[in-house]
Amino acid sequence: MDTPPTKKTLQIAIVGGGITGIMLAIGLTRRGVRCTIYEQAAQFGELGAGVSISRNAVRAMGLIDRSVLGAFNIVATRNKWESKKSVWFDFMDGTSQEPAARLKPLFAMVDPGVGQNAVHRARFLDELVRLLPRDVAQFNKKLDHILDDRIGSGKMLMKFKDGSVAEADAIIGCDGIKSRTRSILVGEDHPAATAMYTHKYAYRGLIPMQQAIQVLGEERAVNSHMWLGPNRHVLTFPVDHGKTLNMVAFATNDREDWPSSSKLTLPTTKAEALDDFREFGQNVKNIIQLAPDKMDRWAIFDLGNHPLSAYHKGRICLAGDAAHATSPHHGAGAGFCIEDAAFLARLIADPQVQEPAHLEVVFSAYDAHRRERTQWLVRSSRRAGNLYEWLAQGVGSNFKSMEKELAERLGYIWSYDIDNALREATKDLHRRLNVPGLPRLDSQVMPFVTNDENGVEMA
Ligand SMILES: Cc1cc2nc3c(=O)[nH]c(=O)nc-3n(C[C@H](O)[C@H](O)[C@H](O)COP(=O)(O)OP(=O)(O)OC[C@H]3O[C@@H](n4cnc5c(N)ncnc54)[C@H](O)[C@@H]3O)c2cc1C
Repeated sequence: MDTPPTKKTLQIAIVGGGITGIMLAIGLTRRGVRCTIYEQAAQFGELGAGVSISRNAVRAMGLIDRSVLGAFNIVATRNKWESKKSVWFDFMDGTSQEPAARLKPLFAMVDPGVGQNAVHRARFLDELVRLLPRDVAQFNKKLDHILDDRIGSGKMLMKFKDGSVAEADAIIGCDGIKSRTRSILVGEDHPAATAMYTHKYAYRGLIPMQQAIQVLGEERAVNSHMWLGPNRHVLTFPVDHGKTLNMVAFATNDREDWPSSSKLTLPTTKAEALDDFREFGQNVKNIIQLAPDKMDRWAIFDLGNHPLSAYHKGRICLAGDAAHATSPHHGAGAGFCIEDAAFLARLIADPQVQEPAHLEVVFSAYDAHRRERTQWLVRSSRRAGNLYEWLAQGVGSNFKSMEKELAERLGYIWSYDIDNALREATKDLHRRLNVPGLPRLDSQVMPFVTNDENGVEMA
């Protein structure tokens, strides 16, 4: 059962205003917990591409607040055809020269009653921001440094790049794949401080639906499809209430490293994308042909090589991509961010959590109940990316085996019983809160790194 809104004196700092930070802020403020989002950019903003939201994520939204579900329903786009409403993706042979309208799917992944639910990122964010109190966010606040002053003022202090300082009872890093909070937590030289290149990248494009229908035919354009082939795969699904087709074309390059150490997105051209997919059939080439001449190439990085051994240390905690950045091949990264936000909001708002020291216990319960599932996703998503590209050991282009394995993996993601998981985590939280000395013990077991270069100082 949810907790009624209560006024707590606790003050939570949320670093980063992406989907994780915003969802968490909604969940906390709706429960009467004070929080501030510190966002490095001048305003909230998401890149204008589509993101697909699965059943588990929809359930987590409802647990954050019913208004989040309302926002989602305003922007969610499902497959257009009634007969495709439960289909997540129809899987197609991307190398086939058979025209799209005549080509039959190899197999389909079906999630009854849910199917494909895609949102235009920027529009979804706009709707979510409307649910936040006006003064909850501070912009142009790029976290640089954390000072642990629990012994002095009893607070955690944050220093920002602009020289300003803020304090809170706890800091939750929702600052994404390149998280500064994570590098502070583990130390800059730690291998988990930095996400690694998975040797896959993606071209992304939004295409007017009418043009897509002309080249693919209506069935293939207005419903979601995944076009498979060796070393490459392409996703097409409707967003923006069917007005736009979202295309994401993935490629594997095991031979070269990503050419930039600081940028995950680099400019490229449609000609380059077409050349990359030259071995594919005409259907895929026709889709790419509709993208704008100037495109971006996105590097797919994740935290799979060096998963974190804990998502918290004392009163610093990580959520979303900051904790478990994953490749996008299960279409579940954002969904798991939303699950994290639901967990943290509900556990922090628990009536037994009253003192700043209790937040350390909340974070240890959150870590215990979230880390295994979220780190499994990172590993499984890599495997899925290889399945789509006929690179998975023991499967290759055996579509029967591919279908069976994908159904098992997606079933684990989609059928998550978050209500029960939260009940278990809450029970565990209460047990931990009632063990004398546990909060202190937790921070003693994992003391802060004192090296100033890592950005954390003991006051
Ligand atoms: C190509 C691609 C396709 C994807 N498709 C899907 C999909 O279909 N379905 C799905 O569920 N997921 C998908 N994902 C994953 C999903 O996009 C991410 O999991 C999700 O957006 C992460 O949200 P976040 O809020 O944790 O991080 P972010 O969205 O990265 O937000 C982090 C925020 O923190 C801010 N910030 C960073 N550093 C600092 C600092 N030092 N101080 C203050 N603020 C800071 C940033 O400006 C940003 O606003 C995809 C990812 C990629 C790359």
